[in-house]
Amino acid sequence: MTQDVIVVGGGIGGLGAALAMGRSQIRVQLLEQATAFGEVGAGLQLGPNAVRVLADWGLSDALVDCAAFPEALMVRDAHAGSVLGRLRLGQAMQKRYGHPYATLHRADLHALLLNAVQQQAPVSLQLGARVAGYAESTNGIRVTLEDDTAFSAQALIGSDGLWSRVRSQMLGAQPVRASGHLAYRGMVRSADLPLALRAPVVTAWLGPQLHVVHYPVKRGDWFNVVAVVHGVLGQGHGGAVGADPRSWSHQAQAADLFRALGPAHSELLAMIDAVSGWTLWALNDRPPMRGPGEHAQGRVALLGDAAHPLRPYLAQGAAMALEDAWTLDRLLAEQGAVSADTWPRLLERFAQARWQRNARVQQRSARNGSIFHASGVVRLGRNAAMAALGEALLDNPWLYAGPPEPV
Ligand SMILES: Cc1cc2nc3c(=O)[nH]c(=O)nc-3n(C[C@H](O)[C@H](O)[C@H](O)COP(=O)(O)OP(=O)(O)OC[C@H]3O[C@@H](n4cnc5c(N)ncnc54)[C@H](O)[C@@H]3O)c2cc1C
Repeated sequence: MTQDVIVVGGGIGGLGAALAMGRSQIRVQLLEQATAFGEVGAGLQLGPNAVRVLADWGLSDALVDCAAFPEALMVRDAHAGSVLGRLRLGQAMQKRYGHPYATLHRADLHALLLNAVQQQAPVSLQLGARVAGYAESTNGIRVTLEDDTAFSAQALIGSDGLWSRVRSQMLGAQPVRASGHLAYRGMVRSADLPLALRAPVVTAWLGPQLHVVHYPVKRGDWFNVVAVVHGVLGQGHGGAVGADPRSWSHQAQAADLFRALGPAHSELLAMIDAVSGWTLWALNDRPPMRGPGEHAQGRVALLGDAAHPLRPYLAQGAAMALEDAWTLDRLLAEQGAVSADTWPRLLERFAQARWQRNARVQQRSARNGSIFHASGVVRLGRNAAMAALGEALLDNPWLYAGPPEPV
């Protein structure tokens, strides 16, 4: 059957897009390569801008059921342990932006969205469907899977992540940008942590060429720990040389991480020590978007990481994918009926509404990496600025007050 829209990729962005369109009674075929969704991944942070999206979709209660809502962000020196800066979250964010700051496991956010999508009658989800490519004609889109099965629709949303095939076909093959940073990720039960480390806060430890972030997930029952260090997969970190850069979960050794951290503060070392198993993931991104043509062309739009993959240093990867989907929702609600003829214009408006904000978040995310990992005078300047400016330096009103209404 010909659908209105094909969505490629059932990650956070793809599910968000399917949900947004289902709400407007658009018939969606969602194609996901995985044969099943599992507990892959670790923690995610959602600023009030992303929590607003979920609230608008009626998912606040579901979020409360699985997330944590930390009271503060604490920035500490990874060696001395001193507090460099503090931003009130919790009630303060709720008051300032109308929504709180949430932290949760990616699998819980994914399950929450999947459940909402499955309640949308017009959305059909097919697993084990790996898209090979698409062909665009004046009337529509034809998408072909690797097993040659074909689907037709009026428009296509490519939300197939960092290594997006839809993107390479739309924009030509461009290699991803290697950051030279590796993320060690682990989870620990709160009950297994020393009391001092159980506080409901997001803690970011900054050191030369490294930073570590930990925060509660699963209503505070667990903590997610991410340690970012400089290095290359297979060279003193993780498995064999030449390990797959696409994998989210290389097995990793705590000994390699301890070596990379060096003489860290005892509380930070206690947190790392409490984690019983680590996985490793190489961080890659792409340069910031340069124009709306990188978001949409004709009947095809890219959404989430397929369009604007981020380094996770502003904690906005999932949030920007959700904002993209929310923008589609808004445009569809405003437009009313959409026909085969009107999709290109609608996707052009989507691209115009999103590309600059996404580019800014990409740019700020990459810049944060240099600031977090600074050494020498840059580090002293950073610490002095945080002491002098306090919350003003850590808050991001331009970001957290979003997403902006499309014009
Ligand atoms: C398994 C997994 C675990 C992750 N864990 C974390 C984490 O712990 N912390 C964090 O900050 N971020 C994590 N991320 C990334 C984070 O989810 C994204 O950066 C952000 O949510 C944007 O989501 P997205 O939907 O644009 O991309 P993604 O979340 O990458 O989703 C892309 C989806 O497209 C599917 N896909 C790819 N190619 C094809 C194809 N050819 N045909 C059909 N389907 C295809 C993928 O299987 C995937 O489900 C993870 C992503 C994945 C896929």
